[in-house]
Amino acid sequence: MTVPIRAAVAGLPSYKPGKPAVTGDRTFKLSSNENPFPPLPEVLAATQASCSTMNRYPDMGNSAALAALAQHLTTEQTPVAEDNLAFGTGSVAVLYHLLQAICEPGDEVIYAWRSFEAYPIAVQVCGGVAVQVPLRADATHDLEAMLAAITPRTRAILVCTPNNPTGPVVGHEELQAFIDAVPEHILIAIDEAYVEFVTDPAAARGLELWRDRPNVAVLRTFSKAYGLAGFRVGYAVADPALTAAVRAVSLPFGVSVPAQAAVIAALGAHDALMAQVRELISERTTLVAGLRDKGFALPEAQGNFVWLHTVEHTERVAAECVAAGLMVRPYVSGGPWDGVRVTVGEPEANARLLDVADRLTW
Ligand SMILES: *Cc1c(COP(=O)(O)O)cnc(C)c1O
Repeated sequence: MTVPIRAAVAGLPSYKPGKPAVTGDRTFKLSSNENPFPPLPEVLAATQASCSTMNRYPDMGNSAALAALAQHLTTEQTPVAEDNLAFGTGSVAVLYHLLQAICEPGDEVIYAWRSFEAYPIAVQVCGGVAVQVPLRADATHDLEAMLAAITPRTRAILVCTPNNPTGPVVGHEELQAFIDAVPEHILIAIDEAYVEFVTDPAAARGLELWRDRPNVAVLRTFSKAYGLAGFRVGYAVADPALTAAVRAVSLPFGVSVPAQAAVIAALGAHDALMAQVRELISERTTLVAGLRDKGFALPEAQGNFVWLHTVEHTERVAAECVAAGLMVRPYVSGGPWDGVRVTVGEPEANARLLDVADRLTW
C-alpha cells in the first residue's frame, strides 16, 4: 500500500532546472537567466555579517527589508506603502501564494503560451485549470485572445512582461486597456521579473497600473537583475487585501536572515547593480544585432536572454551550443513555440554564441 498522491500533484509536469556549467573546460551556465556578475563586496559583507544571528529565526514580518523596499519603490506619483508589499521565497512562491489564496478547484487561470515554465505547475498545484492562449506570430502576448478566453470560471490572468522565454514586452497602453476590460473580480498578475532590463519606452510599467485597481498585482524578483537568485526573494506590489492574502498562506519565516540582509544591501547598492544591468543590456544589443546580421530572425529581446525560435531543430541547435560550452535552455514539446533560450552572460559566452551561430541553421 502506498500513500495516495493527489491527482493534481501526481500529474504535474516537472520543472526542469537549468543545466549546470560543467567544470573542466570553461563552460557557461546560460540556462537560468542568472546574473553572471559575482556578488558586490558590500552585499556579500552585509550578508555574511547577518549570519552571526543564524541561531535566531528571521524577522517574520521582514520589517527592515519591507521598509527599505517601500522607500525604494516610492516615487512622487506612486507612493508604495509597506502594506502594499508582500515578500516570498522568490516571486514564483508569491505567485503560488496568490493562486492558493484565490483558486477554488477547477477555477481557470489564463496565461500566454509559450511563457514561463513555472506557470502550468503553479496553476495545477493550486487546484486551478490552465488556459493557455498562443502567442502572436511576433512572440508577443495576444491580449485580445486572452480577453476572449475569459469564462465564468476565470479567476486569474498572468501577464509576463518581458515574456520569458521569448523576450518581447507588453505595451503599457495595451495592457492598461486590457486590465480595464477585464472584470474586476479576476486577478491580473503582471510578472515583471526582468523589468530592470527593459529599454523599450512603450513597455508596460506595472507600478503605475496596480493602484486603484485592487485586482492587479505586480510580481518582481531579486533573482535576476539584483543577482540574488541563490537567496530566493521576490515580492508582490498590490492592494493590501491581496498582500495580506499572500502573507496568510505563506510559510512562516520563509525569507531567511541572510536573504533579508542581502535585499537591504542590494537596494543600497542599487546604482552599482544597475550599472551591471546596463552592461548586460549592451551585451544583449551586440548579441541580437550579431545574430540578426547572420540572418536569424529574433523577436524583441527585452530581458537578459535571447530566443532562438528553432522549432523542430531545437535539440540539434541546443546540442551545438552545449558542444561549444554554452549550457542553454531548450524547450522541446513538439509544439509551434519550441526553441532555445540563451541567457546574456559573460562577454566571452556571448562571443562564443556568435561563433556557434556561424555553424547553425534552423
Ligand atoms: C525568474 C523568473 C521569476 C522569478 O523567479 P524567482 O527566482 O522565484 O523570484 C518570475 N517570473 C519569471 C517569468 C521568471 O523568469
